[in-house]
Amino acid sequence: MFDKILIANRGEIACRVAATARRMGIQTVAVYSDADAQAKHVMACDQAVHLGGSAPKDSYLRWEKIIEAALATGAQAVHPGYGFLSENEAFAQACSKAGLAFIGPPASAIQAMGLKSESKRLMEKAGVRLVPGYHGADQNPELLQREADRIGYPVLIKASAGGGGKGMRIVEKSADFAQALASCQREATNSFGDDAVLVEKYVQRPRHIEIQVFGDAHGQCVYLMERDCSVQRRHQKVMEEAPAPGLSAALRAQMGQAAVAAARAVNYVGAGTVEFIVEQKENAKTGQLEMNFFFMEMNTRLQVEHPVTEAITGLDLVEWQLRVASGEKLPLQQEQIKLHGHAIEARICAENPDHNFLPATGHLQVYRKPAHSAFERGTLRFDDGVRQGDVISPFYDSMIAKVIVHGETRAQALALLDQALAQTQVVGVHNNVQFLRHVLHSESFVKANLDTALIPREAAHVFKQEPVGLNVAAAAWVAHSLQQEQAKQGADPFSRADGWQSHAQTLRRFPLEFAGESHIAWLQYGHAGRMTLSWGNAAGPHAISSADHFEFTPAAQGLWVTWQGQRVASQVVQQIGKPGTPADVAHVFTAQGATRIRGVSPLAFDANEKQDDKAGLTAPMPGKVVSMAVKVGDKVKAGQSLAVMEAMKMEHSIVAPHDGMVAEVLYAPGDQIAEGAPLLKLA
Ligand code: ADP
Ligand code: ADP
Ligand code: MG
Repeated sequence: MFDKILIANRGEIACRVAATARRMGIQTVAVYSDADAQAKHVMACDQAVHLGGSAPKDSYLRWEKIIEAALATGAQAVHPGYGFLSENEAFAQACSKAGLAFIGPPASAIQAMGLKSESKRLMEKAGVRLVPGYHGADQNPELLQREADRIGYPVLIKASAGGGGKGMRIVEKSADFAQALASCQREATNSFGDDAVLVEKYVQRPRHIEIQVFGDAHGQCVYLMERDCSVQRRHQKVMEEAPAPGLSAALRAQMGQAAVAAARAVNYVGAGTVEFIVEQKENAKTGQLEMNFFFMEMNTRLQVEHPVTEAITGLDLVEWQLRVASGEKLPLQQEQIKLHGHAIEARICAENPDHNFLPATGHLQVYRKPAHSAFERGTLRFDDGVRQGDVISPFYDSMIAKVIVHGETRAQALALLDQALAQTQVVGVHNNVQFLRHVLHSESFVKANLDTALIPREAAHVFKQEPVGLNVAAAAWVAHSLQQEQAKQGADPFSRADGWQSHAQTLRRFPLEFAGESHIAWLQYGHAGRMTLSWGNAAGPHAISSADHFEFTPAAQGLWVTWQGQRVASQVVQQIGKPGTPADVAHVFTAQGATRIRGVSPLAFDANEKQDDKAGLTAPMPGKVVSMAVKVGDKVKAGQSLAVMEAMKMEHSIVAPHDGMVAEVLYAPGDQIAEGAPLLKLA
């Protein structure tokens, strides 16, 4: 076994690998960029080497520098994690050349599976079933169109060199093919420097089910069961579970054997995943759903969602990777691998689900997690690479954390995950925690009616939901404000500034904004410290009734707040706003969910924020300019795409908010741009 390894990655996966290495007594070397100088993964390792600038190409993708670092620190092996250099055959080769073990498959296997079209030709030969399609070398557009017509619509066009869902286009009818092809090729060229595509049948009610495989250098290869990753957005995984609901033992064995055959066809060594697309067709006679699986691609690395497999098999896949890379045999034979219980993973990402999952950046002002285990199996496992106070920068992936639960049954796992998400508080960066809970509660998910269209199908239940109503939010906010005030003022009633008077009743107003609307709540102090809270207008409260009785007491965390006959435990966190903002955003967390409310300071009440009328031309997120479609003097129409920018694996078009002429272009392709910065000016 190795004494020391270098981890050529960052974030949660670097921390994950370091945890197993530490448990096995192996020393670790981290690498880091400028932005990551103080990152959690650096602290998780025994040694660290600086690579360079924050952009991946200046740091985590500089493989000569990484190999140099491994040699200089005396590491014997390199773990590439996922993303970055993990599927780069030149890097794997360079490691071997330098005398370092690459903790991954042989370079030849990476290469064979690197291009979707070539890997499909290979799989066809190995007898693994493919989605009907065209994956030939001839890229003549007319030929591609003929092939699409032959396959039958809908078809899916994919970039052969693709990954991360980029370039993929669903085409519904023949007439739309040419345009979709051109747009896929454009994105493929931009993202991968290669415009080759393949065309395949768009499978009906598709489920994404993948098989974890493991090979060793002694000719053994096993499968560690499956993961269902059908819950996706933008062809990217959101939640993953194991085992796949409704998969029969027979089909599991068939898929497992097909995956092992695929791995054997490329002499696979180490951890890999064979992804299948599974068609669900209703049998006309029995009414039963029939499942047919087809090879989609193989990922020659550890996957983000490997913890669900660890949960159900009781194994540590990173430990297996280290053992296999150091030349040991696989620890178990196929028949010794058993599955137990049900596991689900949810990816917490810095993004705004209500704005087409636009990635977000910012400062993790508050980051609270439920009691958990990290980087090892447990009922509730929470893997991440960030801490409270850290910054989610525009340079890397938008994933903040992975929550993994393991229960006896699927229903139990679901309940555990819901509870874990309810206890996860993130303030300062837009995130999908609430969205994940809505998905979890959706009928399709609860009934395991899974396919890749689950999120769009459940759109009405998962987007723009307000899990906490105005009354609960307002009561929590008023109680929190009063408590803050009391804490500041101490116990002396005569130093109070809140309008308290010993003999008279007093009224205080609490202007606030909730879900885009303004409201005024009136607090009335009665005899013996009794309070009522009621809605009203600027002149005063509407009718006050006994139901308006209001009180609060400390809870384990936050406050118990009673109003309108409801008693709710809530926690309020005041978000630190940008300087000069008249109103403060407060986050209200309850068991039901979280929401935001703006408590408007009475002094600043009229100073409403003005909407920036140039909003359409500014960067909605920090990122890089990918292309600029216009130049100074161009006439543009409202809705026309003017520029494309990219951040955190996503592209975003900047469109003209109105007709006009381009007066100024402020950035060029390749430029890094800050959030809110104007990209161009229209006259
Ligand atoms: P999967 O592993 O399930 O196929 P993805 O394709 O989403 O899922 O995961 C791999 C992606 O994760 C890479 O393409 C990369 O953009 C991103 N990534 C790379 N490094 C990290 C990291 N350290 N933390 C989080 N995400 C990363
Ligand atoms: P990537 O390299 O981006 O991961 P994949 O080929 O693995 O690309 O496909 C990503 C996702 O796109 C799948 O998980 C699935 O949701 C969808 N998909 C891919 N191929 C098909 C198909 N033939 N029919 C329906 N959906 C598909
Ligand atoms: Mg894939």
